[in-house]
Amino acid sequence: MLSKKEFEKQQVEYEKNCLEELKGLNPQTLCIHAGQEPDLVTGAVNVPIYQSSTFKQYGKGMDNFFYTRLGNPTRHALEKSLAVLEHGKHAIVWSSGMSSITGVINLLNEGDECLSVQDLYGGTQVLFRDLMPKKGIKVKMMSFDDADKVVKEVTEKTKLIYMESATNPALSVPDVKAISEGAKAINKDVIVVVDNTFASPINFTPLDYGADIVVESITKYINGHTDVVMGLTVTKDDALFKRLYEISVNFGGTCSPFDCFLVLRGVKTLELRVREINKNALAVAKFLEKHEMVEKVMYPGLESSPYHEKASKQFKGYGGIVSFIMKGEIELVEKFLKSLKVFCLAVSLGGVESLAENPATMTHACVKKEVREELGIVDGLIRLSVGCKFEEDLINDLKNAFDSCKK
Ligand SMILES: *Cc1c(COP(=O)(O)O)cnc(C)c1O
Repeated sequence: MLSKKEFEKQQVEYEKNCLEELKGLNPQTLCIHAGQEPDLVTGAVNVPIYQSSTFKQYGKGMDNFFYTRLGNPTRHALEKSLAVLEHGKHAIVWSSGMSSITGVINLLNEGDECLSVQDLYGGTQVLFRDLMPKKGIKVKMMSFDDADKVVKEVTEKTKLIYMESATNPALSVPDVKAISEGAKAINKDVIVVVDNTFASPINFTPLDYGADIVVESITKYINGHTDVVMGLTVTKDDALFKRLYEISVNFGGTCSPFDCFLVLRGVKTLELRVREINKNALAVAKFLEKHEMVEKVMYPGLESSPYHEKASKQFKGYGGIVSFIMKGEIELVEKFLKSLKVFCLAVSLGGVESLAENPATMTHACVKKEVREELGIVDGLIRLSVGCKFEEDLINDLKNAFDSCKK
């Protein structure tokens, strides 16, 4: 039997070798391999669920784990895996996507200013438009379509720039590199944050384009099976990681070891799922673009999209979210949504299922009507989350639902 000290020495060596082994591997391999090495003690090929809130302390300076809010081996494995996939150094998982965004916002203090893209995820809208101003943090919201215009707004007081890799539900795409570089030339201390939920690390790695922190709702593509709510932050910066870790531990948005296990299981097929989803979504967008009952399709993968060029420069794939405006009154839109059989009428996105929703009455109902209209969230807008079902079944389902509206 090895002494505890000898064992830990081996463990450190083992982890170092594991990281070394990852170099040059394709994301398809990394999803299955990174952070998910066989257990050194038992040889278990899957990372065990360490369902324990506290850990016996064998001796000062010798113990990796102490209390689960501060760290847990199952969570640690998941964080290692996601740090590698996002091309970062340090990952922290949080109890929800919103909890990870709140964590990032807690880097700011009263009097600080934040510059944000205007058409944000619904929950983030409420946080930025209503809650942050109450804490004395000024938020300026604008379109991020023109990088030069964004950079012009940066001042010495700007502490944080916040954007989404593709916005929700309009799917506008910012030029992350141009905005990061331009902003840092004016204020080198500004923290650039990208919510990468819509792209996932398979389609986009913002840390390679000048972002300092990636936040993500793991609930969506990373987990992919619609059974966990969890969030993520990843950074390459040691000091930023320290600050975020302190916030995460002390504000307390911890995730359960069991949920971490489920997400580790989901991550293994992330590349396969996203690859299939990219293909299905492009086919669905092309079908919708030609349909007589559709006024407009928003999908960066379409050549007709004003974001096609920018998206092609940054993304490896265009993702699974397709938004479109249906012609006709809201009653017709409701009839269409109720007629779908392969798509399920539900909010959320990023799972293997295929979902359809009406942002004006569902995900963005919490956003004031005037703001919604400003952002182009009209009543006839439908957002699809195209999943892993068979391409032809998805398209036939849409076709049949349109036909039922003609009767
Ligand atoms: C879902 C979502 C969030 C919030 O994540 P939760 O896990 O639901 O808290 C944040 N940003 C985007 C873009 C999302 O889609």
